[in-house]
Amino acid sequence: MPGYIQSRLPALGMINWFVAGDSRQAAAGVDFMGGDIMVTRDTGEQSCCEFSSGAFPKREPFGKVLSLNWYDGTTSGLVQCSRCSAVFKYDIVDWDSNQERRIFAFSPINSAEFDHIISLLSASASPSWPFWNPSWRFDSPKEKNRVAFEVDACLSRAALVEYIVAADRMLQTLFGAKNLSDPARNRLPETFDGLPASDDFNYWREYIGLDE
Ligand SMILES: [Zn+2]
Repeated sequence: MPGYIQSRLPALGMINWFVAGDSRQAAAGVDFMGGDIMVTRDTGEQSCCEFSSGAFPKREPFGKVLSLNWYDGTTSGLVQCSRCSAVFKYDIVDWDSNQERRIFAFSPINSAEFDHIISLLSASASPSWPFWNPSWRFDSPKEKNRVAFEVDACLSRAALVEYIVAADRMLQTLFGAKNLSDPARNRLPETFDGLPASDDFNYWREYIGLDE
């Protein structure tokens, strides 16, 4: 019977290890799962960034947030997990009336694309982590356009949206997440443009299971 074991690794924070066999541990693991990104160990191949479903408080889950669009906070960009290096492209879907709680669509993307985008943007400014909103100051408009074109090409290689994630305006705190299912997928646009794609925050709040 599958179960969960928690292990507190000082350098890495709290992680759930998925293992065969201990139903007693399973209860404790499930109880904690609401509070972290979980690690599945049944195949040994999966990354730690498989978001558990529902509402949860989790601070600074990402070692690197690269913001590529801004509206009183980030509206699109890339995040990288500091534990497993998994990268997601994120795009804003909706926000609450204060624009503080934001709903993002998360799409897996190869970490090589992330590294390439960082190298492109590092020509104009030095990266600053955990949060970098690059200035995009280049020597000429032509150079800026070239970089923007290359960045867009990298972003276009992201996979389909996999998770809906609720976070603050700087993506420093996650409030909850859920796998994207088909009825909700139909509410997303074909392409994102850095502004909320829908105007129904309550739908997404209930979808994830957040409090009002
Ligand atoms: Zn991870």
